[in-house]
Amino acid sequence: MDKYDAIIIGAGIGGLSTAAFLAKNGMKVLVLEKHTVPGGFITSFERKGCSFDIGLEGLHELKKDGTIPMFMKYWGKKIETVQRHETIRVITGGHDFTIRGTSPVDDIAAQFPAEAAKIRKLFDINTKIMNEAASGGVPKAPYDMGFFEKIGFGMNMMLTKPNMMKYAMKDGVPLLKKYFKDKNIANTIYSKAFWPMLYLGLAYMWETVRKDEVYYPVGGMQKIADTIVESIREHGGEVMLKQEVTKVWIDESGKRPFAHGVKCLSGEYFYADTIISNTSPHHLLFHLIDGVYDLEPLRENIRSRKVFPAAMINFIGVNESYDFGGANYIAFMDDNALDRKPSENTPENCPFVMFVAEKPETQKHHSVVLIASLPYSYHNNWETGPNGERGEAYRKVKEEASRILLERASAKLGAKFEKSVLFCEPSTPVTAYRYTYSHEGSFMGWEYSRAAYGKFLPHTTAVDGLYMVGQWVFPGFGVAGVMAGGYFLSKLLLKQRGIDLNERMKAEG
Ligand SMILES: Cc1cc2nc3c(=O)[nH]c(=O)nc-3n(C[C@H](O)[C@H](O)[C@H](O)COP(=O)(O)OP(=O)(O)OC[C@H]3O[C@@H](n4cnc5c(N)ncnc54)[C@H](O)[C@@H]3O)c2cc1C
Repeated sequence: MDKYDAIIIGAGIGGLSTAAFLAKNGMKVLVLEKHTVPGGFITSFERKGCSFDIGLEGLHELKKDGTIPMFMKYWGKKIETVQRHETIRVITGGHDFTIRGTSPVDDIAAQFPAEAAKIRKLFDINTKIMNEAASGGVPKAPYDMGFFEKIGFGMNMMLTKPNMMKYAMKDGVPLLKKYFKDKNIANTIYSKAFWPMLYLGLAYMWETVRKDEVYYPVGGMQKIADTIVESIREHGGEVMLKQEVTKVWIDESGKRPFAHGVKCLSGEYFYADTIISNTSPHHLLFHLIDGVYDLEPLRENIRSRKVFPAAMINFIGVNESYDFGGANYIAFMDDNALDRKPSENTPENCPFVMFVAEKPETQKHHSVVLIASLPYSYHNNWETGPNGERGEAYRKVKEEASRILLERASAKLGAKFEKSVLFCEPSTPVTAYRYTYSHEGSFMGWEYSRAAYGKFLPHTTAVDGLYMVGQWVFPGFGVAGVMAGGYFLSKLLLKQRGIDLNERMKAEG
C-alpha cells in the first residue's frame, strides 16, 4: 500500500486548506471525509428546487483582497462572488423596524432618537475596534510566546489597541446591558449574533454591515470547498469522500509515541507519518484513539472547557410570490434574550433569525434559513438515546420545536407568509453532530468568552506526527479563521522540510 506524506481526517475548511498548502508544496496528501461532500459546516444542498447553505448568509472575508481570495490565489484558484447587501428587519418586544445596509447607524438612531448619540458612539467604537484588529500584522500564537514576549504583547495591545482592550475583549452581553438601559436597543445590537461572545464578535458583524462588505460565492458556499478540492487534486493530492476514519494508529513502542496511519469504516488502512485531524478534539481523543497515556493531559484540558452553544437550523422553501419587503435578515428577539443563557432557551422564547439566501438565477422560490439559539441539551438532548439513537421521540420533539418557531415567525410576518411556506426541513444540534462529529453540534468550537479567549489549543500534540487543525485550535473558528489555521500548521510542517511557506507566498505575490 502507498504511503502518504500526510493524511488529513476531515474535509472541513480547516482540513482542506491545510491539504491545499501541503499539496501545492509537493507533499503527497490524502484527505478522508466521512460525508458525501466536502466542506463540513459550509456545505450546500438542494431540496425541492431550492438551494441551501448550512448556516452562512455571506462572508466579509470574500471581499476583493480579503483572506479567502488571497489564499485561493496562492492555490491557483479564484472564487466568483456577488455582493450581498444586508437589509435587516429587527423585531423586538416594542419595535419592528428595518435597518438598511447602506445606513445602519442612521436607521437605528432614528428608531431610538433619545439614545441616538450613544448609538453613534457605539458604531464609532466598532470602527475603531476593527481598524485596531486589522493593524500590526499577523499575531503569533500565545503558546509560541515566551513569558516576556507575552508581557510585551499585552503592553503593546494597551498602547496601540485601546478600543480592543476596553470594549472588544469584554463579554458582549453585559457590555450591551450596561451601555443601553433600553432593552430594545441592546436587543437590536444583539440581533446580529445572539450568542454570548466577546464584544469583538458583535463589533465585527455590525462593521461588515456598516461597510456594506458582505459577499456570497456564486454557486453557494459549497463552491469554496469544491474549489479547494480542485486545487488539491491539481497538485497531486487525493480527496476521498464517504471514508470515515474510525481509528488513528499510534505506535507506543518507542521513547515517544508516534502516529503512523488510520483505519476507515470501509475496512481500508492508510499510512503516513503525519496525521492531521480536522475532526473535533473530543472525537479524536475519545473515539479515534484508545489509551495513549501521553494524551491524557490534553484530554483533561478538553474536559475542562465549554463549547460554543449550538443551533437548531430549519431550511424553508417560501413561495416566490411572498414579498419580504426587501429584508434579507429578519431577527426575532425575545425581550429577555439578553438575560437568559442559551442553555435556558426554548422554542417559545429563543431568539432566532430568518435569512433569505442569495439564489441562483434559475431558482424560482425563496430559500430561507431559520437559525434558532436552542441548545444541544434541549429536551433531554432532543430525546436521543444513550448512544445517540434517534427514534420517534426525537422526530416528535424536533418537529414540535420547528412548528413553534414557524408559528412565531408567522405571528409577526402574517398569514400570507404562513401560506407561502412550501416546506420546512428541520435540523437539530444532534444533526450537526451526526454530520460533522463536532462536539455537541458546536459550529464555532470553544465558547467565545473573555474567560476562554486566548487559551488556544496548539496544532501539535504529545504524539509525534499527530496534529490538529480547524475551529478548535489556533486561531479559532470561522471560515477565514480555520483557513488561517491551515496556513499556520502547513508553515510548521513545511519548515520541517526546509520550506518557508511565508517566503513562497510572498514570492508568488
Ligand atoms: C449557523 C452557522 C453560522 C456561522 N456563522 C459564521 C460566520 O458568520 N462567519 C464565519 O466565518 N463562520 C461562521 N460559521 C462557522 C464556520 O462555518 C466554522 O467555524 C468552520 O466552517 C469550521 O470548519 P472546520 O474545518 O474547523 O470544521 P468542520 O466544518 O466541522 O469540518 C470537519 C470535517 O471533518 C469531517 N469528519 C469528522 N470526523 C471524521 C472522521 N472520523 N472521518 C472522516 N471525516 C470526519 C466532518 O464530516 C467535516 O467535514 C458558522 C457556522 C454555522 C453552522
